Amino acid sequence: MKIDEAREVRTTCPYCGVGCGVLAKVAADGEVTVRGDLDHPANFGRLCSKGSALAETIDLDGRLLYPEIHGRRTGWDEALDLVASTFSQTIAEHGPDSVAFYVSGQLLTEDYYVANKLMKGFIGSANIDTNSRLCMASSVAGHRRAFGSDTVPGSYEDLELADLIVLVGSNLAWCHPVLYQRIAAAREKRPDMKVVLIDPRRTMTADIADMHLAIAPDGDVALFTGLLAYLGQHNALDRSYITAHTNGFGQALFAASALDLAGIAAATGLGEDELGRFYSLFAATAKTVTVYSQGVNQSSSGTDKVNAIINCHLATGRIGKPGAGPFSVTGQPNAMGGREVGGLANMLAAHMEIENPEHRERVQRFWSAPDIAEKPGLKAVEMFQAVADGRIKALWIIATNPVDSMPDADAVEAAIKACPFVVVSDVLAKTDTVRHGHVRLPATAWGEKDGTVTNSERRISRQRAFLSTPGEARADWWIIAEVARRMGFGEAFSYASPAEIFAEHAALSAFENDGVRDFDIGAYGDIDAEDYEDLAPFQWPALASPSPLRGGSARALSEAKQAGRGGVGDASPTPPRLPRFAVQSSLADPPLKGEGKSTRFFANGNFYTPDGKARFIPIRPVPQTRTNEKFPLVLNTGRVRDHWHTMTRTGKSQRLSQHMAEPFVEIHPADATRTGIGDADIVRVSTVHGEVLVRALLTARQRPGSVFVPMHWTDQFSARARVDALVAPITDAVSGQPASKNVAARVERF
Ligand code: SF4
Repeated sequence: MKIDEAREVRTTCPYCGVGCGVLAKVAADGEVTVRGDLDHPANFGRLCSKGSALAETIDLDGRLLYPEIHGRRTGWDEALDLVASTFSQTIAEHGPDSVAFYVSGQLLTEDYYVANKLMKGFIGSANIDTNSRLCMASSVAGHRRAFGSDTVPGSYEDLELADLIVLVGSNLAWCHPVLYQRIAAAREKRPDMKVVLIDPRRTMTADIADMHLAIAPDGDVALFTGLLAYLGQHNALDRSYITAHTNGFGQALFAASALDLAGIAAATGLGEDELGRFYSLFAATAKTVTVYSQGVNQSSSGTDKVNAIINCHLATGRIGKPGAGPFSVTGQPNAMGGREVGGLANMLAAHMEIENPEHRERVQRFWSAPDIAEKPGLKAVEMFQAVADGRIKALWIIATNPVDSMPDADAVEAAIKACPFVVVSDVLAKTDTVRHGHVRLPATAWGEKDGTVTNSERRISRQRAFLSTPGEARADWWIIAEVARRMGFGEAFSYASPAEIFAEHAALSAFENDGVRDFDIGAYGDIDAEDYEDLAPFQWPALASPSPLRGGSARALSEAKQAGRGGVGDASPTPPRLPRFAVQSSLADPPLKGEGKSTRFFANGNFYTPDGKARFIPIRPVPQTRTNEKFPLVLNTGRVRDHWHTMTRTGKSQRLSQHMAEPFVEIHPADATRTGIGDADIVRVSTVHGEVLVRALLTARQRPGSVFVPMHWTDQFSARARVDALVAPITDAVSGQPASKNVAARVERF
């Protein structure tokens, strides 16, 4: 690989939602090294195993370097013309809803913004969804139901300030390792800090926990509705907060009282004594953060789980205060950035709502868009079902591998194979999805592209290029804009750089933003290329005083400095400037909604509902049992420490492959004995949808009656190991997120 001149570049890790700052250095001889960025407020220099091994994953082996049509190398003009003309023709013949984009939390915000703008404003359909649907959709839906907006209330430092951290459905030690390290370090300084882990598996995260509740799969709604009832019964409510800042408490408490303690014990599989200990600890600890992740989200009751947790925080007024709040941690590096620009099929850009006619009109006017989408589009699972039944006739898959990662993956592969026109943009030439692309478009990879990402605490950071562009690869935003131009939308997509896209995105976030929406990075609206290059990590809303331009978020920066951690730039007071992309004279007076606002939300109410009050959601536990005589075990899927998604990047590092060298099923010794399975046997794990062959790993860390198979291995790395081929396409009714952690399964010797 041709390497640019020796220099150290400040960028961001492309893996999990912690969003760690990385310093990448290219030596004169071309050797690349990475280290943690001491000045980045997400990690203060720490990196986990995956982040530390980034330099081992950037070779050009297996890269897609030139556009291809039906496997034949071609030039960009021919490939882009074919994509644009086929999409245009399909839309003309069958309407805008006959086409779809399936995109990715791996995209940078600028790529996401352009894809969303093309589909929702110019094609006139909302058929753009993202693999973030598999990751965060239940949190998004829960936030919107409770807060009126998809807003994460707290910051990472709240995890260090809390007296109690409740981790729900989160193997933080492996899936968000640097956050785990921050909690471990805080706990060493304050040994009285307590950690409770709620997870069917005794994962490595249990090593830091004072209490591990090995909850039955999907028992979380019963657990947290029971907690709300307990808080009510034990005088542990913040009644003044409830009165001043919320609606619906009475109905929520009534619904939560459906089960008595014995009923909760039965629904959760926990003992009444364990429940009592957890409930009394929660009730007694004002500074409590409840961290939740995929064990909550990836469920057919995922949104109810999120709201059951949020209800408990609202009832105790523990939200938006130092060391207190519900806190969803995202899986991917830019799941949040995608949410901010409307990457989900049921959202508009800048956190506006597609169902809201005023929001649609505002976005349409800002974009000068000919044809704004008027209804939500197809969510991921629905989208591939529509591909299968022929409603979607042209599909563009960008930066993701649904043939391996979607539930019912074999059916998804069959649908893609049968689709009349499939475009795939990717960095690799031979993923299980890329090989089905009629047109394959080579995209730039991490280290070669420029843009921004947003991490789990709303912090926007730059990814910066430090490698030359190989072959004819191009940035995703450029590829999408070129197709838009060839579809006749050139003027609206005439971007020359990601800085221009970011400025437009920032201007839209501020456009006629009268305080109804929280998402406002408008201070960056007139950012130029030099500002963009220098952009330091900041949390939105960004109109804090002083302006964070060229500096971090004002509050985070000042506290970081007080703590002696160093800063993230010079937060010199620069007044907000006019957005370059101003299209309305009202922008001459940009809103200062965020001025002086803390980067924590909701301490004093001010929710994004019409009356400014949060909404309690009444929730009753509904059994989610799926096992039967033929498939008596519950299959849970998830990550291991050193691999990522379908291993397209981490599979390149021998070091990362040493931790877990092959796919496996964790099974409790009692379940294994019953079926004659010995440790290290090759076994068949099957469901009604398919089967995998993996090695048995007998461990008492696994809850009896349930098994765990990691999500990463594909046929490329191990024959018959695609676990998502086993997962049923059952989704949460509110969020559309698949239930990837509660699948009826059987395990037998092979
Ligand atoms: Fe990257 Fe996440 Fe590890 Fe940080 S914790 S280095 S963002 S994978």
